[in-house]
Amino acid sequence: MKGTQLHHPLIHIHHSNNDKMVHHKVTIIGSGPAAHTAAIYLARAEIKPTLYEGMMANGIAAGGQLTTTTEIENFPGFPDALTGSELMDRMRAQSVKFGTDIITETISKVDLSSKPFKLWTEFNEDEAPVTTDAIVLATGASAKRLHLPGEETYWQQGISACAVCDGAVPIFRNKPLAVIGGGDSACEEAQFLTKYGSKVYMIVRKDHLRASTIMQRRAEKNAKIEILFNTVTLEAKGDGKFLNALRIKNVKDEKESDLAVNGLFYAVGHTPATKIVEGQVDTDSAGYIKTVPGSSLTSVPGFFAAGDVQDSRYRQAITSAGSGCMAALDAERYLTELE
Ligand code: FAD
Ligand code: NAP
Repeated sequence: MKGTQLHHPLIHIHHSNNDKMVHHKVTIIGSGPAAHTAAIYLARAEIKPTLYEGMMANGIAAGGQLTTTTEIENFPGFPDALTGSELMDRMRAQSVKFGTDIITETISKVDLSSKPFKLWTEFNEDEAPVTTDAIVLATGASAKRLHLPGEETYWQQGISACAVCDGAVPIFRNKPLAVIGGGDSACEEAQFLTKYGSKVYMIVRKDHLRASTIMQRRAEKNAKIEILFNTVTLEAKGDGKFLNALRIKNVKDEKESDLAVNGLFYAVGHTPATKIVEGQVDTDSAGYIKTVPGSSLTSVPGFFAAGDVQDSRYRQAITSAGSGCMAALDAERYLTELE
């Protein structure tokens, strides 16, 4: 687009040094269930949204975390399950059908200090920014991995970062399983996995759990859970196809041994994808965007957050989709009031 542009009823006249201006009324950053749900709602409200879906942003394909998994059995409406990629393809198609403009680029910089907000993609960092009246940030989060020797071989062949997502698959039924971590997630995941596994080991690097007292008690009381304190994992081992053991070490006496398990679940925390807005909007100590409870509103008016990027607790496709809907409705109201 060239020169001065009048794009929509919220009239912004932009000039730039290089005579190249683009303005979006509302910009969605991300491509998971939160981003596409926000897009569907905004597009159906005839606020033609622009969605930057990223190009391997944070190492994950457009479509988000669900593209990294197999069957999704807990997203309502699909009793026969479907793959994560198929679900995301369908969401994307629905966004496009109602008029979302999807750009396959990664947003690398955001300036929230003045209105309209400014955005740069990794390809236009030296050029004039794209401007926008409102932003829905739905960049998600990624589970931390330990990058153990053997992890790549057995990833999704016994190793997972989501017990709720993968715990029910047949390879874990009545088999010994392990969870690494000592936080609330680890306790919750271990508890959840006792429904499927014959036994669940919690591998905790310190001599105590970090989890809240109530979660600790539940884990300690569960006869199927054994907590291995002062223990670190050195290697994931298997038959070349599936995981069947972990090499572990007791950090007190330095003794190493093999622990026979058919499943390993990481619960060592998540990293929210908030780097592009670091220092510009309120976050919690782990970097998750703070939203006003029961809404998608952040500390910056016009900047909304949805999905895992603002949710350290539930982190599910359906909760992300739900918050994407909230962000769209909040953004629509904000734009109406601006007009
Ligand atoms: P994400 O899915 O995290 O997607 C965000 C995406 O936005 C990123 O991946 C990237 O592609 C894009 N992006 C990031 N930064 C930028 C940027 N700067 N510019 C442009 N684009 C960007 N949940 C369930 O409910 N059921 C399951 O069975 C299930 N299985 C799972 C299995 C695995 C292996 C994993 C890792 C997660 C699973 N989950 C499951 C959790 C679920 O995937 C997440 O809760 C959900 O995907 C979060 O959605 P989101 O919209 O917040 O963003
Ligand atoms: P977390 O509290 O950060 O705990 C991460 C755990 O992983 C810690 O025990 C940590 O050990 C361990 N860990 C980190 N890096 C490791 C490594 N390299 N090797 C071995 N262990 C490692 O994360 P979380 O459990 O996901 O919880 C995140 C937030 O969500 C918390 O605020 C939590 O309260 C909340 N949450 C709440 C609930 C609930 O209330 N039902 C459920 C889930 C999550 P150290 O302790 O040694 O650092």
